[in-house]
Amino acid sequence: MKNQKLKFILVILTAILIFYLLLNGLQNQRQVCVESPNKIVMNTIAKITAIGPDKKTTQLSINAAFKEIYRLEKLMNRYDANSQLSQVNRLAGKESVKIDKDLFALLQQSIYYSELTDGAFDITVGPLVDLWKKCAEANSMPTESQLAEVKKTIGCDKLILDANDFSVRFTTKGVSLDLGAIAKGFAADKAIEEMKKHGAIGGLVALGGQIGGFGTTEKNAKWLIGIRNPEKSQNNQIIARLALSDTAVSTSGNYERFYKIGEHRFSHIFNPATEKTADQLASVTIICPNGTQSDVLSTAVSVLGKQKGLELIEQTDDTEAILISADNKKMLIKSSGVEKFIAK
Ligand code: ADP
Ligand code: MG
Repeated sequence: MKNQKLKFILVILTAILIFYLLLNGLQNQRQVCVESPNKIVMNTIAKITAIGPDKKTTQLSINAAFKEIYRLEKLMNRYDANSQLSQVNRLAGKESVKIDKDLFALLQQSIYYSELTDGAFDITVGPLVDLWKKCAEANSMPTESQLAEVKKTIGCDKLILDANDFSVRFTTKGVSLDLGAIAKGFAADKAIEEMKKHGAIGGLVALGGQIGGFGTTEKNAKWLIGIRNPEKSQNNQIIARLALSDTAVSTSGNYERFYKIGEHRFSHIFNPATEKTADQLASVTIICPNGTQSDVLSTAVSVLGKQKGLELIEQTDDTEAILISADNKKMLIKSSGVEKFIAK
């Protein structure tokens, strides 16, 4: 009797196991992967890969993600005279300007990150960016008096945000906001939200050096991401491979965007304190759950340099880094917890 009961329980358990395995197998079979073509948006190449239950849903999730990225670009591109950011840059020195809630949220976060990074990240670098761009075009270094003039407009203390009516005002004329070091990360986060809302169960959003992944690939594997060699002649070589899920990765470097004056290449990242370019690190990769944060910190650590940059990363929860110094591009400098992300 006892034996029979045991047999019965075993049969039931085996049946449940087979049923579970079948269901799981079926579900996996029903996962499809759709890849978008490369698109140019936010001044970079964007590509989205989505995993979903069927082709139509998966494609729609990609469409929704791109729609969101284009919407944010339209709001935040300072080189588009019709963007809301351009309107802010033109008017906020004279009057309060009411803005979109997402743009407002991003300005709030920018102020938070400026404080977190001790001013290394600062969206008021706009006039500095313009000055260096102009100088690169004229092939001459900025003069001390030009830099002193720009200095008057730099600092997040010159922004006044009013959460009651989502408005922004500048305390000083000449302030110009540049969201180049945060907008792509924010957009990748928002794109992922859209994909999930529209039924994707996994995906990878790549906006140039800004990557956000969620869920897994159609083979239930983690997403594999390569970090490129910052050395110009070996830029197609991958120097580290990361395996991740529900994680964002941002790389800032001076190998794609830079200013050339004479024979010298200057980084497109500025130290707001000195107004000089940040050239100590050739490449900074940040890995953390949130794309906005990884984007910001890759720029901030470029400014802070190896020692202070690593200190900041060690103090920041769930955040890891891989740095490559400009004077030794063969060595990877890693934060203490980064190994778990390196693909085996
Ligand atoms: P990428 O655009 O390649 O992702 P970053 O995320 O590092 O590179 O952003 C660099 C851009 O951010 C610059 O081109 C400039 O527009 C702006 N920027 C430069 N220096 C700073 C800084 N210290 N803080 C905030 N934004 C910056
Ligand atoms: Mg970036």
